[in-house]
Amino acid sequence: MGKIYQTDGATRRVTHPLFLSIALVFSCFTSGVYAVDDNIHPEVASKKKRVLVAKSQTGMVITANDYATQAASDTILKGGSAVDAAIAAQLVLGLVEPQSSGIGGGGFLLHYDSKKKQLKHFNGRETAPMAVNEDHFMVAKNKAYPFFDALVGGYAVGTPGLVAMMYNAHKQYGKLPWASLFEPAILLASNGFIISNRLHDSLKALAKSPKGVSNKALAALYFQTNGEPKPVGSILRNPQLANTYSEIANKGPKAFYQGTIGQDIVQAVKNDSNKKGLLNKKDLIRYQSLIETPLCKNIGNFKFCGSPPPSSGPFTVTQMVELLAKTPELKGLAYDSPGFYHRFIEAAKLSFADRNTYIADPRFTKNPTKALLSPGYTEKRAKLIPLLKASDELSVAGDIDEVDYLQVKSPNQPSTTHLSIVDKEGNIVSMTTSIEHAFGSRIQVRGFLLNNQLTDFSFTPINKNNEKIANRIEPGKMPRSSMSPMIIFNEKDQPILVIGSPGGAWIIPYVAKTITQHLYLGASLEDAIESPHIANTNRLHATIEDDAPDSLKKTLEMLGHEFKQRPLTSGIHAIKIHNGFYTGVADSRREGTAKGL
Ligand code: GLU
Repeated sequence: MGKIYQTDGATRRVTHPLFLSIALVFSCFTSGVYAVDDNIHPEVASKKKRVLVAKSQTGMVITANDYATQAASDTILKGGSAVDAAIAAQLVLGLVEPQSSGIGGGGFLLHYDSKKKQLKHFNGRETAPMAVNEDHFMVAKNKAYPFFDALVGGYAVGTPGLVAMMYNAHKQYGKLPWASLFEPAILLASNGFIISNRLHDSLKALAKSPKGVSNKALAALYFQTNGEPKPVGSILRNPQLANTYSEIANKGPKAFYQGTIGQDIVQAVKNDSNKKGLLNKKDLIRYQSLIETPLCKNIGNFKFCGSPPPSSGPFTVTQMVELLAKTPELKGLAYDSPGFYHRFIEAAKLSFADRNTYIADPRFTKNPTKALLSPGYTEKRAKLIPLLKASDELSVAGDIDEVDYLQVKSPNQPSTTHLSIVDKEGNIVSMTTSIEHAFGSRIQVRGFLLNNQLTDFSFTPINKNNEKIANRIEPGKMPRSSMSPMIIFNEKDQPILVIGSPGGAWIIPYVAKTITQHLYLGASLEDAIESPHIANTNRLHATIEDDAPDSLKKTLEMLGHEFKQRPLTSGIHAIKIHNGFYTGVADSRREGTAKGL
């Protein structure tokens, strides 16, 4: 019973007494738990490490890889701000964790200015090329592209937004010179870094996945001549990326959007041998990273803030937590009890129904987030959560008078990276970035990979009733995201939690579960992150983390839940702020590290 984490020699066991007793009561009931998984899983699970916890009174850095954590902490120690540190770390992540993010992709950066007590959102989401039409992902009437046909090659490459976003954030909140932020990554790309288990496993999975590795530059950089990925522990140099970074360091984003780097991106997309794309020079020139007001919502004594649409993440997280908070006597439940997990699945079904229907790029479609988070609406929806057994029907989206479009399904796959940083002055960055699928479109240009973010659009533009789908592809539009960089405040408007995760649409349940368990059910941040994940994205079955205790699985089955089991590889990097202390936690499911400053 309980969860065992194998680490380098050490074994850690977390026992849940409640599971023990419930298991005893229900141990006579067993029935089939689905072991087969029909989801595509683009990023592999890697061996769990120890959950890492760091404490400090003067600053905190958590990123998905220790090289990046080091670059961020060095940057702050040199006098840099949280934004400086985030940029330095991101550039290193693009090198050492190339499967997840990089300058060929996009992201969202939420910034808290501790002096002005002001929050700003920097939006670097990719945009669809101006040459697309609504049927971009349709092979024929009523027939969408198979996922991998759309993903591999130029067809799903959106205009990358990361460089423009980092530059905007730096202009407002940078303290060190822009070029200096590239130094750690350039040095590491030139001298080499050690290939980690996770990168190696991801390369292995890439080689075996549909369409494999056909891009020559990608194969040459990461694979040996016998076709095997370069081994764990070997040194990898990426001099092309070092040159690309030097150019952007010296000339700024112009080198990327208007210079030869952009030209090379367009050529690679247009001439890809798998599938040519429509991105052209003008798409790059017209790209604008947006500076926005974050989505914020008061719930009881807390204020939840995060990326606004086109991310569906913080909206859905907030609505889920609100629905749960409105169920009777939530606080009487243990954070790891089947009773909590049951309510969590039901809240997810309801919130994902709204999210799937209503959320898309707000420049193209009205997002009724205010109505969907209003007290009257959430009160009504919370009452739909059955307390003692699973609902036997799929929830449908609530009726919102202002809008009238329907259900959307767009695949949204787990790669991506999240970092959380607090600098010495208390400024905060919560940033999630992505190239979408592991290794993105698999097109490598000048040492970095291009995204396949356009597959986050609904492939079909209309639903069964011939109504337009909110998240359909349109020229210049940003695809809906699930990325959820968030900061939560207390009743005095002080930040108390910085959080986010990779994981595709599952980001939402990862973050919502952690927040609920930690802020409402008394779990430590570490226990909340490490307790089993469970998700439902408005499907008939839920998905449960494969190593969740049997007692939990059996009890949920008794309540009528059906689920599939698989690794749920979150990478939650969160900072708790309490009484002047920072506690940073790096999820055991990936390779992230936390460092107090
Ligand atoms: N493309 C996804 C999104 O924007 C992120 C994918 C991931 O987390 O792996 O929501």
